[in-house]
Amino acid sequence: MIQLKNIHKSFGRLNVLNGINLTVERGDVVVILGPSGSGKTTLLRCINFLERPNDGEVTIGALTVDCRHPSRKDILELRRKTAMVFQHYNLFKHKTALENVMEGLIVAQKVPKKEARERSLEMLEKVGLSDKCDHYPSQLSGGQQQRVGIARALALNPEVILFDEPTSALDPELVGEVLAVIKTIASEGVTMIVVTHEMGFAREVSNHVVFMDGGVIVEQGTPADIFVDPKEERTRQFLKRIT
Ligand code: ATP
Repeated sequence: MIQLKNIHKSFGRLNVLNGINLTVERGDVVVILGPSGSGKTTLLRCINFLERPNDGEVTIGALTVDCRHPSRKDILELRRKTAMVFQHYNLFKHKTALENVMEGLIVAQKVPKKEARERSLEMLEKVGLSDKCDHYPSQLSGGQQQRVGIARALALNPEVILFDEPTSALDPELVGEVLAVIKTIASEGVTMIVVTHEMGFAREVSNHVVFMDGGVIVEQGTPADIFVDPKEERTRQFLKRIT
């Protein structure tokens, strides 16, 4: 289980997160929606301390970290329990698809090279890229690069995968292949938190939708709660604008 309690984050005088409470159960697919600047990406980055929250508590499995006094060990362990898929893929340009997937296993998890290679090949097959293992990022389409990013996250076997707008840098015709891969791994029970503007994906694949505005969770519930019967006026206005 993942639990966020009273998470606050500010950048200088700008309060971006104003007390976020969220519980994610194992196997949940949580989608975070909200207008630009509402704090979605910041919230995601607070879970693995890519941004350090100013206050609150992050729990992942048996580990609870007090955000005001995190030890280095706590932060390393939070990172080990999570994997992130970035908007701009963040692949190493001078490494092949296979080497990109192997890197985290070898460096962060100290997995022996042969085992890392086998596991990475398996993950590349899962995302449909068996035939592109030896290609460099520049030789891959955006959709293929993002699928390498997903294989890299999956290979780490984390307790949760954090997706930060995984399709928003892609040409429209490439969005579908990436969403299909995310949908497949969601159906296999991988716990995930996804910041996205893809409403179809949110409706179809998630089991919990969170609507944020102004650094707070305005409303959360099942896709039906949020899309069919939203309770809050701010949620209704947002959905009216984007659908
Ligand atoms: P979008 O949908 O446009 O990606 P978002 O909801 O993900 O938006 P965030 O990226 O979390 O929003 O940003 C929330 C606010 O925090 C914005 O006003 C942004 O400018 C600010 N912000 C984010 N990161 C930083 C930073 N490193 N330094 C200063 N301000 C930041």
